[in-house]
Amino acid sequence: MSTLKAVCILLLCPALFTSPGRSATVIAAGTKTVDACSFAVKPTAEIVSHLPYPANWKVVVVCNENVWDTLMRQSKVGFISDYAFTLQPNHVTFIRGRVFIERMRYTPEQALKHELGHIMCKCDSEDTAWAWAEKH
Ligand SMILES: [Zn+2]
Repeated sequence: MSTLKAVCILLLCPALFTSPGRSATVIAAGTKTVDACSFAVKPTAEIVSHLPYPANWKVVVVCNENVWDTLMRQSKVGFISDYAFTLQPNHVTFIRGRVFIERMRYTPEQALKHELGHIMCKCDSEDTAWAWAEKH
């Protein structure tokens, strides 16, 4: 089973947003309706639509904090993030809904660019990912 499928079964993914063209698919997780999570799903779709995420990529918006905490405890993640994380072999990036509500050190756009930096370099280096994010 794919990680994404496992996550969706575990966390309730009510909807799938496929933007036209060649951008990534944005999915809401941890919400009963997409509308209830539009505060995070809409800006994510907007940001992703103008970033060069691969067309086969999935961006999962984690709409509630309990779900985020559950994800952070998954062994596959292996680290704690306040913003977002990427599972490269699964072609999926998760972003925390909370970053759209609270003013944090990095903006959601910076976080999504940083994750894309990892995707572009195919590496886990934080420095390389931030360097890519700053240039784009
Ligand atoms: Zn990183």
